[in-house]
Amino acid sequence: MRHLHGDAGADGGEELRLGHAQSIAVRRGRRNGPSGPLSVGRPARPVYPPRVASAADHASTLEWDTPLFAQAITQLEHALELADVPDFVSNRLRYPERAVMLSLPVRLDDGSYRSFPAYRVQHSSVLGPTKGGVRYDEGVNLGECAALAMWMTWKCALLRLPYGGAKGGVRCDPRSLSQTELVRVTRRFTAELAPFIGPQLDIPAPDMATNEQTMAWMMDTYSMQKGYAVPEIVTGKPISIGGSVFRHEATGAGVVMVVERACARLGWNLAEQRCVVQGFGNVGGIAAAELHEKGARVVAVSDVSGGVHHEDGLDVPALHSWAEEHGTLESYDGRSERVTNAELLELPCDILVLAAREDQVTERNAGALRCRLVAEGANGPTSVGADAILAERGIPVLPDILTNAGGVTVSYFEWVQDLGRLFWDRDEIRRRLADKLADAFDRVWDVAQDREITLRDAALVAAINEVAGALEARGVYP
Ligand code: NAD
Repeated sequence: MRHLHGDAGADGGEELRLGHAQSIAVRRGRRNGPSGPLSVGRPARPVYPPRVASAADHASTLEWDTPLFAQAITQLEHALELADVPDFVSNRLRYPERAVMLSLPVRLDDGSYRSFPAYRVQHSSVLGPTKGGVRYDEGVNLGECAALAMWMTWKCALLRLPYGGAKGGVRCDPRSLSQTELVRVTRRFTAELAPFIGPQLDIPAPDMATNEQTMAWMMDTYSMQKGYAVPEIVTGKPISIGGSVFRHEATGAGVVMVVERACARLGWNLAEQRCVVQGFGNVGGIAAAELHEKGARVVAVSDVSGGVHHEDGLDVPALHSWAEEHGTLESYDGRSERVTNAELLELPCDILVLAAREDQVTERNAGALRCRLVAEGANGPTSVGADAILAERGIPVLPDILTNAGGVTVSYFEWVQDLGRLFWDRDEIRRRLADKLADAFDRVWDVAQDREITLRDAALVAAINEVAGALEARGVYP
């Protein structure tokens, strides 16, 4: 497979420095032709306006123009060059459909009041209700939510889930808030969002610093306003109120399903591979356990405290017991040597699983990686510039919108089960997840081979074509 990295620039920096509107202006005049895969087997093509002009096109900056949103736009612009969709479609996909900005007045435990900025961005409702996490973090802002909402659109579309993307959050330091304060933040946030969310409108889920309990409070607040239980308003909730078995393991297990499928295509036996896993939380911890169970040699893992390494392979169950007891891998006393997170990324191995956070492999270290395959369990762990370097070096990257899609896929199963009030067992969910991921993987792999493009570009092109097909069929209202 030949890997193209297109016009992101040698380091992708030039495009990233461009503002959103500027980036659009640079491309103004480009006419995406209506030919290509979208037209295959379609009946007569409806007539569209040549271009849907937007007042936003003429703005120098927009509210969501932040570095993360610029990264999402850079990826989109590059993929649009390959996707060949009409201008009115690409123009629509550059902007979120709706962005809600709130300030939440919350009474703190000491009797004082504080206002917390909060957001919910819905990127696209073309394929169905929007879906995405809620995070509590000091860095939450409109641009971050807009970027993450756009990536959720691509992820859902790639997996052929009947959803668009959304993301939201409250700007706060969750560690400084008590449990009772978190309840009040969550309930007020849900009440303020009530007109904009719903089982057929927008379905929240947990993200950074939110969990099953947060989803239970959201579900209860929404249900109290409706007057009856509405479990299908959120996913990732406790099993006792309609949550799904296997949701907790879904993302990490999905990462390994995708890795296993990639190994098969590459002619590798997973059980013979040496693996390094960055991040030992929900995604990385489960991925390491699954790799270990499948016989692969997990030679290093890490969390925020740093990593542990042993060339003969680590005792992954022992590491889990340690992390459970001590809350961190720090001072783990099993057979291993300590490494920093920077050193861990550069260890020689076959498969490097990035499952910690965004921006871990950049132009600075991409040239020093000594793996043969990268699997993105986290969202956005590889920068645009690093992508280009890895492509040049012939190291395939299994992209996040495919590799960590197990979570939203099992969330979709949870929503379907809630709507039908009929619940599946663990084996059935695991089997259905494997089928969904295999189907998406095969489509991405085939597009990458046929078009001679990277797996990330192939995944984005496949996802954009799904949304574009629906947009073309529906047209622009009125
Ligand atoms: P988590 O909080 O459970 O785990 C994160 C892990 O990464 C922890 O072990 C933490 O110590 C470690 N970590 C943090 N900063 C680090 C650093 N600089 N270097 C090394 N390790 C570091 O979070 P999670 O749910 O596992 O999510 C991890 C990533 O996967 C995030 O990007 C998240 O958005 C993405 N993701 C998660 C899910 C899901 O279902 N949980 C689904 C899709 C994507």
